[in-house]
Amino acid sequence: MANPVVAIVGRPNVGKSTLFNRIAGERISIVEDTPGVTRDRIYAHAEWLGKNFNLIDTGGIEISDQPLLTQIRQQAEVAIDEADVIVLVVDIQNGVTDADEQVAKILYRSDKPIVLAVNKVDNPERRSDIYDFYSLGLGEPYPVSGVHGVGVGDLLDAVINHFPETADNEDDGTIHFSLIGRPNVGKSSLVNAILGENRVIVSNVAGTTRDAINTRFTAKDGREFTMIDTAGIRKKGKIYENTERYSLMRSMRAIDDSDVVLVVLNAEEGIRELDKHIAGYAHEAGCGIIIVVNKWDTIKNKDHRTMTDFTTLIRNEFQYLSYAPIIFVSAKTKQRLNQLPTMIEDVYDHSRRRIQSAVLNDVLMDALVANPTPTQNGRRLRVYYGTQVAIQPPTFVIFVNDPDLMHFSYQRYLENQIRRAFDFTGTPIRIIKRKRQ
Ligand code: GDP
Ligand code: GDP
Repeated sequence: MANPVVAIVGRPNVGKSTLFNRIAGERISIVEDTPGVTRDRIYAHAEWLGKNFNLIDTGGIEISDQPLLTQIRQQAEVAIDEADVIVLVVDIQNGVTDADEQVAKILYRSDKPIVLAVNKVDNPERRSDIYDFYSLGLGEPYPVSGVHGVGVGDLLDAVINHFPETADNEDDGTIHFSLIGRPNVGKSSLVNAILGENRVIVSNVAGTTRDAINTRFTAKDGREFTMIDTAGIRKKGKIYENTERYSLMRSMRAIDDSDVVLVVLNAEEGIRELDKHIAGYAHEAGCGIIIVVNKWDTIKNKDHRTMTDFTTLIRNEFQYLSYAPIIFVSAKTKQRLNQLPTMIEDVYDHSRRRIQSAVLNDVLMDALVANPTPTQNGRRLRVYYGTQVAIQPPTFVIFVNDPDLMHFSYQRYLENQIRRAFDFTGTPIRIIKRKRQ
């Protein structure tokens, strides 16, 4: 479940984001139409030769008001802290610069494997110039051209060679969940409050995610949970610790390891842009989601409309999360925290629900009768049958005469009918339309 992390570092303009997009490109274009997900991304899932990994472009983590060299140094530190493998990108057009040497020195002192990419080698004649880069002391330089995609395969071969053996804590029978959200919404306070309310079995179980504290506890009904706490570890004194981009990255790590994520909002401050980005990533990852509005105690003079109004606001701002239940809590007064374990458990169960094909097809056929399929240029969409092919998230293949005839609105209608028939609260569901052979 926990994928290795590869970080791209290097001074500005060497081509980090070009390489990032080249490596993650296909995946990005698949998920980019999810509303609320940033285009300006620094974190993406990628794959090479069947190995999945997460890619970070550290160049996107801007630490404002810092001189350039400090920024680059900070970015290298993020890479050392977060990544399993670091790709240092340099640029053949400029040769070895002071900044390259400084970054190389920082990286060299860490014990992380480093792969050196010499970018902008657009034509083969320049390949002989790459030997200058041996002077950085990071071993063999790999010539690449991010723009043309040349050499990227060899680079990735070298990268995946350094992947650690993955530890697997997936199948311990417990429900893994985490709390994600921007700085100060109250994640750490909630972590402590939840643990205070339940019986902790083991704390500090080694997590698959570096720097996560995993704590296993039993809820009142006996069900076991593992809480993944990436927020709890503060990189005290590090400048980047409270930057928004960094909190996004930590959230991504937690999402990767979780069956269910609690997207924490701050009632006091309302909804911010970053909340939407974080929630968008969770939605796209396919895990179960609960929206937790924390600091509910700070809202004074509540009346019968307060909660409804806040709910409406959330539904408007997070339209793609219409399936996620919302709970209003306070880490401070412990209000409603006792309801969380049951909610997490329900969402988890829904995300693993399997629907028998016969039952599913009854629902689909009723849906077709109630709302006949659309036509386009005189051709009518025909829906033949559907079948569930996966869980977490529940994924359905629907066989049709021509996938292009099934537009988003009809697909959403079918999804809604499936949701009306079966309780999938808290879990995204995926529909894959396929032409019947
Ligand atoms: P970053 O600041 O390190 O993220 O660099 P960018 O990816 O934004 O690229 C900086 C500039 O270098 C852009 O104008 C890119 O088009 C250009 N560039 C990136 N990769 C290559 C390459 O392989 N060959 C050439 N000729 N230009 C490149
Ligand atoms: P994190 O950065 O998301 O982990 O947030 P923290 O847990 O560190 O909380 C940030 C601040 O909000 C701290 O000062 C907490 O005491 C405060 N806080 C957290 N939860 C609540 C709550 O439910 N009510 C109130 N009034 N304050 C809270």
